[in-house]
Formats: sequence, structure tokens, C-alpha cells
Amino acid sequence: MVSHSEPPKEDLAAVALEHKIDEANAIINGTTDTSKVHELDASKLVVTLADPNARQVPDEAAANAGLETICTDHMVTASWNHQSGWGVPELKPYGPISLMPTASVLHYATECFEGLKVFRGFDGKLRLFRPNLNAKRLLMSTLRISLPGFDPVEVEKLVAKLVAVDGAKWLPKTRPGSFLYIRPAVIGTQPQLGVQAPKEALLFITASFMPRMDSPAGGMRLHTNPEDMVRAWVGGFGYAKVGANYGPSLLATNEAKARGFHQILWLYGQEAYCTEAGASNFFIVWRTKEGKLQLITAPLDDKLILDGVTRRSVLELAKTRLAEEVEVVERRYTIDEVIEADKEGRIVEAFAAGTAFFIAPVSQIHHRGTDVHIPLGENDSGAYTAKIKSWMKDIMYGNEQHEWGLVINEEDEAAAGQKRKREQDDEAKRE
Ligand SMILES: *Cc1c(COP(=O)(O)O)cnc(C)c1O
Repeated sequence: MVSHSEPPKEDLAAVALEHKIDEANAIINGTTDTSKVHELDASKLVVTLADPNARQVPDEAAANAGLETICTDHMVTASWNHQSGWGVPELKPYGPISLMPTASVLHYATECFEGLKVFRGFDGKLRLFRPNLNAKRLLMSTLRISLPGFDPVEVEKLVAKLVAVDGAKWLPKTRPGSFLYIRPAVIGTQPQLGVQAPKEALLFITASFMPRMDSPAGGMRLHTNPEDMVRAWVGGFGYAKVGANYGPSLLATNEAKARGFHQILWLYGQEAYCTEAGASNFFIVWRTKEGKLQLITAPLDDKLILDGVTRRSVLELAKTRLAEEVEVVERRYTIDEVIEADKEGRIVEAFAAGTAFFIAPVSQIHHRGTDVHIPLGENDSGAYTAKIKSWMKDIMYGNEQHEWGLVINEEDEAAAGQKRKREQDDEAKRE
């Protein structure tokens, strides 16, 4: 259930979002009039398999060496239009999608996306990490840009289906400890210019290789944003994973890279609150002036930052497993507080956390002529950073059985796939 508190009625954006959320809840609770519009329904999935011999699986290094993201054999698509609702979802060979040059997404940034990984466990099993949270966030982002709602459980099922079909070949049991990156996205496809909510949309899901980014040599170096630039603002949409947040951030990121840094540490407001590091959440372990050990990160309530699945998991693990040692704090804190803590020798560790970067130790923050150097411990990581990371890894790769690790049933899929393939071949012979 998507929940919301009542905004004041004069608050147009909040009221509009509230209506959208009510619509989504009606879908989730099955109280919409389904006689007219079809809901997204993963059980109706139509499967067309690719020729399994058409493409070879590269090794990880080769897969990430080129200029192109290498996807698996299949993708999932589902289209929507405002009259009939969601069409039948399809799982089909990976390939181009076709859009008119006047498609809404190409002009008005009606796009949102998700990123999650599927892991090949050391026990041979395939696991998704808390995919329900990604599916819910996709719904939230979708509604924020006036694209159609859906039951997030159906998206979760479609993701599971894709990885069940492609897992055996693309993430084989001979490669335990590796992962693929899953990218669901929703775009407005209506071919009509004019700023309006699209009456047609497309959901698609791909799975691909992605380089490991969790341990840059010497730690991650962050550069704060230029004084005249922000990533997100109160009243904006920084909390939604919408494409419109990312394109405009590249200018600063590229400049930081040219100066030898990895990512921007995005500050906000006159006070220069620390918010996020690139497209990942940011954490510091420090001692307060009183000597208390704290894990601190920016809060969600001002809607500036993304409610990361990794962020949430780090907080939950720290609260349960480090409760004796470390106080977990979500509050606004400024770059000046960080610089002061550094001068007083109170910074213990820092790291960036997100699906793509996983948990990446941070070794430096550069802010307008001042440098904060954060010592890395053994193996280029702080001890708490390493501990949290290893707990997460254990869950992802099945060393620890945990409810966050959703095991994918590949066996049924393999049998069903062989049957389907035979049927497809028979059909081809008859034609
Ligand atoms: C995706 C993203 C994150 C990380 O979220 P996860 O769910 O942990 O992957 C953090 N910040 C931004 C801006 C993001 O786009």
C-alpha cells in the first residue's frame, strides 16, 4: 500500500500526487474498474525465446571493455495506452525499441528508471536483493512524471522472470560471486508535441553487465558541486529516479573527473548540507565532540535525496548489528561540520552506497580549496565500511540466508524454456 499524509489543498503538486497515489492504491487493492482498462499482469506474459546460440557470453572484463552495455538474450516490454490500459507483457529477444521522433520522452523527459542487481550465489542460487523496494520506487517515480500506475508486485514478477530465463546462460553457476545489472524503465511514448501527460507509455526491463565500482584504487575522491549549481532542491524531484535528474548533473561530474575526482558530493542551500555522492547515498562515520561514535547520513524528509535500497539496508544493518558501538543518525549536516570534524581528527570513515557503486570507501572530499583526507584502513577500506559491506555481500551471495535475498526459481524456467523452444521450432517447421 502506498501511503501519504494529507497535504494542504492549495498545494497543487502535492494534491496531484495524492490523486495519483490514490489511483495506484486502487490498482494495488483491486478496486479500480478493470472492465475498461487492463492492469499490468505478469501472469499474461508472452514469451518468445531468442536463438540461444546466436550470442556468446563474454567474460566480465571483455563485457565491460567496450563502449556499449552488453545485455542478455532477452528483455521484457509492456506498453500502455490510456484507453485500454496495460497490454500483455512480452519477454522477447533483446533489441531496439521503436519510437516516433515526436515521442513525449524525447522532448519532455517523461522517463524514470530503476537499477538493481541479480547475484549468482556461492551456493549456486540466483538472488535478487529486495526487489520489492525497487518496484515500489519505480511506481513512485512513474507517478511523479504522470506516467501510468501499476501494481509493483507485477514489475517484481517480470524482473524475476527475466533473470530466471537468462540467468543460467548469462550468470552461470561457474561464476559464483558475480552479478548482472537490471534496468527497468518507464517512458512516455505518445507521438505528440505539446506539454501534456502522455497517453501512451512503455515499460521495459533489460539485464546487462556492469563493471564493479566498489573499490576504486586509493578510495573514492569527491569534489563538492560548483557554488552556482545544485542537483536537487526542496520542492523538486531529487527523491524520484527520473532521468531529468541525471543529464544536467553531468556537466559538473565531468569537470570533477577532469580534476582527478570520481564524483560530485552534492551540497544544498546556503548552509551547504551534504546530500549525495554522485548517484549514490553518502555516509560518514565520525565521533561527536563528546566522543560518541556515529554513522551519519542525510535524511529523507526534505525529499532532496533518493531513498536508496542500499542506504536503507546499511541503516537497518547498522541499527541492528552495530547498536552497541555506533549511533545511527539521519539528519541534515553541513560540509562545515565535516571540515571541523576533520580538523579535530574526529572523522573515522566515509563511504558511498548504492546499487551501482555498492559500498565504496571514500578517501577525500575537496571543498572550495579545502581538502578532507579520510584515512583508509586495511584493504583500502575503513573497518565499519568493510563490516557492513561483508554483511550485505553475504546476504546477496547466499552465505547468509536472509529475507532480503529473493531466491529465483530457475529450474522450472529451464524446463518451461525447453518446452517453449520445442514448440517454437515445431511452429517454424510447419511454416
Ligand atoms: C539510484 C540512486 C541511489 C542509490 O539507490 P539504490 O537503491 O541504493 O541503488 C542514490 N542516489 C541517487 C541519486 C540515485 O539515483
